Amino acid sequence: MTQRWPVILFALVMAALPLLPEIPPFWIVLLNNVGLAALVAMGLVLLTGVGGLTSFGQAAFCGFGAYTTAVLSTAYGVSPWLTLPLALIVSGLAAVVLGLITVRLSGHYLPLGTLAWSLGLYYLFGKLEFVGRNDGISAIPPLEIGSWRMLDAGSIYYVIWIAVIVCAVLTTNLLDSRTGRGIRALRRGHIAAEAFGVNTVRAKLLVFIYAAVLAGLSGWLYAHFLRAVTPTPFGVHASIEYLFIAVVGGAGYIWGGVLGAVIVILLKEILQSYLPMIFGTQGQLELIVFGLVLVALVHLAPGGVWPWLAGVLPFKRRPPRIDASLQLAGRPATELPPVLLQLEGARKQFGGVIAVNDVSFSVKPKEIVALIGPNGAGKSTTFNLITRVLDSSAGRITVCGTDVAGTTPQQIARLGVARTFQHVKLIPDMTVLENVALGAHLRGRSGTIASMLRLDRADEAKLLAEAARQIARVGLKDQIDQLAGSLSLGQQRIVEIARALCVDPLLLLLDEPAAGLRHMEKQQLATLLRQLRDGGMSILLVEHDMGFVMDLADRIVVLDFGTKIAEGTPDAIKANPDVIRAYLGAAA
Ligand code: ADP
Ligand code: MG
Repeated sequence: MTQRWPVILFALVMAALPLLPEIPPFWIVLLNNVGLAALVAMGLVLLTGVGGLTSFGQAAFCGFGAYTTAVLSTAYGVSPWLTLPLALIVSGLAAVVLGLITVRLSGHYLPLGTLAWSLGLYYLFGKLEFVGRNDGISAIPPLEIGSWRMLDAGSIYYVIWIAVIVCAVLTTNLLDSRTGRGIRALRRGHIAAEAFGVNTVRAKLLVFIYAAVLAGLSGWLYAHFLRAVTPTPFGVHASIEYLFIAVVGGAGYIWGGVLGAVIVILLKEILQSYLPMIFGTQGQLELIVFGLVLVALVHLAPGGVWPWLAGVLPFKRRPPRIDASLQLAGRPATELPPVLLQLEGARKQFGGVIAVNDVSFSVKPKEIVALIGPNGAGKSTTFNLITRVLDSSAGRITVCGTDVAGTTPQQIARLGVARTFQHVKLIPDMTVLENVALGAHLRGRSGTIASMLRLDRADEAKLLAEAARQIARVGLKDQIDQLAGSLSLGQQRIVEIARALCVDPLLLLLDEPAAGLRHMEKQQLATLLRQLRDGGMSILLVEHDMGFVMDLADRIVVLDFGTKIAEGTPDAIKANPDVIRAYLGAAA
């Protein structure tokens, strides 16, 4: 939970600044430019820093906002206040169209894609007759409130900075919510997020549109501040500068966007005014020095200047208060099907490797089934087939009677299947509580707008209470507010179990949950798993510790090189010659 008073203090300081008697008007112009850039950078923080989607095209969205109001207010005489929603809608729609094409790109292709449309739009703005080609549009009317025409920098200053502060608060709210957890999982944990029902494609599109709307707002303000638009400020050069701003300020932090704008714009200004005095007016030295200073800044504060500053400033994030009495509605009590999970000839081929070779087995209600086998036997791949991280090559898998073919990981979660991962997939820079709350994603309702306006608090309190309950249940109460990345690997596995329990699952898939645990911890885990089974849950478990498995499992399925070689009770498996050979062979 973020504190509000630093924001209020900041707003008061910004409100008082223009009232200082000696402040040069030129400073106000600079601060206006800082505010305009901060809005775009804030969008980039969400898109690039948090969401992991690098965009070299944000300035183009400023262009959509600026040109929308420029055209409507000059050619059609529409009041600027009426063009505001239209400017935001046009930027947002442009983002939908471009986003649908680009967001599915991955790796280097995404930034390249944004670069391509950024270049394209720049030339388009410069060629279209109705936006004035390269000459642009001038004589844009100023903003007006009653008879107050905001002709000078000092008056539109207030509009710009109210916009910056309101957007920063709304964006902070968004990130600190159910939707926000989904967004924060995009960069480092999208597979996990999908396993808990987050629609990651939609979340990516959402941040894409959100960032574009912020840029559109900045463009709209820009048009009424300068009262003229040309294509130049909306080109690739400007887009790269916005990226710089976000990175220098701290790409993961909303206020980093504001701080980055202050640093970069002031730095440029200082260099432009003072370098020529020192070195004469020859050449464009300031660009070189500007580049060098940015490189130095990024080296000195690799995460950006904001986290460094926030460490020095006296306000800290407070852990949220949990109301333990709150309850989420559980799964409606319906008759459980006789078989929860059924694999019939499930097969997965990776090129020449047959990772899972026509495997069949089932899991019934209130049963702990262990899936064992030497390394590379196909156990994790089987989990990935069940949870739709991977497509089966052949065979049939049903969960609660539903054939999983053609479904998504999100739908599998809805059916009541929750899982952990052999290679832990927590979001390291989120707290244990936030990570676990991601597991309850499907049990919450609040959407984007409600989160931004803080109308989600009742819903959110229930999700957090449920997360806290599951954390206590697995014995990590003391770690609840720590960052997940700071825990030992064994503890991180246990956090994954708590996250899976938040689904209120019928079937729990655990991939090597006891790896890295000490003897006592393994015993506690075994006790917990027995309690869960006795409470009605089924568990499919991959584990290498034979003592642990033999003690716990009702039934064991053994895989070797993708093929099921045995199935039976622990005692039967212990005595099975094929199993002994597979294990001794693997050991030898
Ligand atoms: P286990 O979990 O039983 O140790 P896995 O299911 O991880 O085994 O792997 C089974 C086999 O499939 C191994 O030979 C592994 O190298 C191969 N494999 C797993 N995932 C992939 C993949 N994405 N691409 C190619 N081969 C894979
Ligand atoms: Mg594995």
